[in-house]
Amino acid sequence: MTAIPLLDLQAQYETMRTEIDAAILGVVRSGRFILGAEGEALEGEIAAFCGAAHAVALANGTDALLLSLRALGVGAGDEVVTTPFTFFASAETVAALGAKPVFADIDPLTFNMDLADMERRLTARTKAIVAVHIFGQMLNMERLRDIAAERGIPVVEDAAQAIGAAWAGRRAGAWGRAAAFSFFPTKNLGAYGDGGMVVTDDGDLAAELRMLRSHGGRRKYYHDAIGYNSRLDEIQAAVLRVKLRRLPAWNEARRRVAAFYDAALAEAAGAGRLILPGREAGGEPVYHLYTLRAAGRDRLAAGLRERGVASAIYYPVPLHLQKVFAALGYRAGDLPRAEQACREALSIPCYPELTPAQLERIAAAVCAALAG
Ligand SMILES: *Cc1c(COP(=O)(O)O)cnc(C)c1O
Repeated sequence: MTAIPLLDLQAQYETMRTEIDAAILGVVRSGRFILGAEGEALEGEIAAFCGAAHAVALANGTDALLLSLRALGVGAGDEVVTTPFTFFASAETVAALGAKPVFADIDPLTFNMDLADMERRLTARTKAIVAVHIFGQMLNMERLRDIAAERGIPVVEDAAQAIGAAWAGRRAGAWGRAAAFSFFPTKNLGAYGDGGMVVTDDGDLAAELRMLRSHGGRRKYYHDAIGYNSRLDEIQAAVLRVKLRRLPAWNEARRRVAAFYDAALAEAAGAGRLILPGREAGGEPVYHLYTLRAAGRDRLAAGLRERGVASAIYYPVPLHLQKVFAALGYRAGDLPRAEQACREALSIPCYPELTPAQLERIAAAVCAALAG
């Protein structure tokens, strides 16, 4: 029996091979490779998809965060509050601008930042809040918006894992001052290389991002700021436009996979052998990952491997305990719920191309691995 991978991009490609090949060839034949018609069209389509007025295509999701924070004026002496249970880039970008990441603990049910704990960590120096929609599930954005608005602090959504997810019927990207998306190949909307995007309703902010992405220039060879080279290439934009048309169906299929696991693993969860991913009422997650928790997580992972089922640990080390952030002064035990999640979380395969037979095999493997 062939092993079931965590994600199968080859299977996805097979479902749209002719369209993808034509899109790539079209760019090659056009002779325009960076910032052209495909990228512009994609910006319009992503803005419309998210329900935002503007979108600016960038080289990757990390730059989408970095340039957003920079455009909002984040720099030395500022604090930015975020979650420690996320990919490094959510806080790396804050530190790269000379500002200080401040970490709030998480809600153990959803793995998202706990808003009550976040509120306690806001100070006069808080320049922004980075709201990470972890694993494709949005935070309670109404509550976050109210807390942030009361203090006049801008929210930047880290929506790298959440394209198409919604809170109260409005999609990720339509809530923050700016929202960062990643098109890293494994994301729900993945390119065949790196790519990223910022969406915003703020036209001035969008203009600033366009300036920053092209070496700080509004016109070629005239530079107003020290900027970046952070542009999306046309081949990636053309690929992403083909895939964007399928994204709603893919996200729906991911929800069906999650519903299958919720039902198939309910008994094991009821017996206390694992904890299923929690859902906050009001949200429509897109299950970038389906992440279980189990006290014997490493044994569970080994048992799955023996049975030919891949799994992965997101995330093994919380950001406040990363070596590079030692100078921030956090100690083990400071953010206990995030630390426990790092010890217990295990993500199992969750993607649209999984067959019913594969799903049955995965669920049976989880149950057997927990029993043995
Ligand atoms: C993937 C990811 C990023 C970074 O995106 P890249 O395109 O890889 O630079 C940032 N934040 C989160 C939560 C991510 O998952």
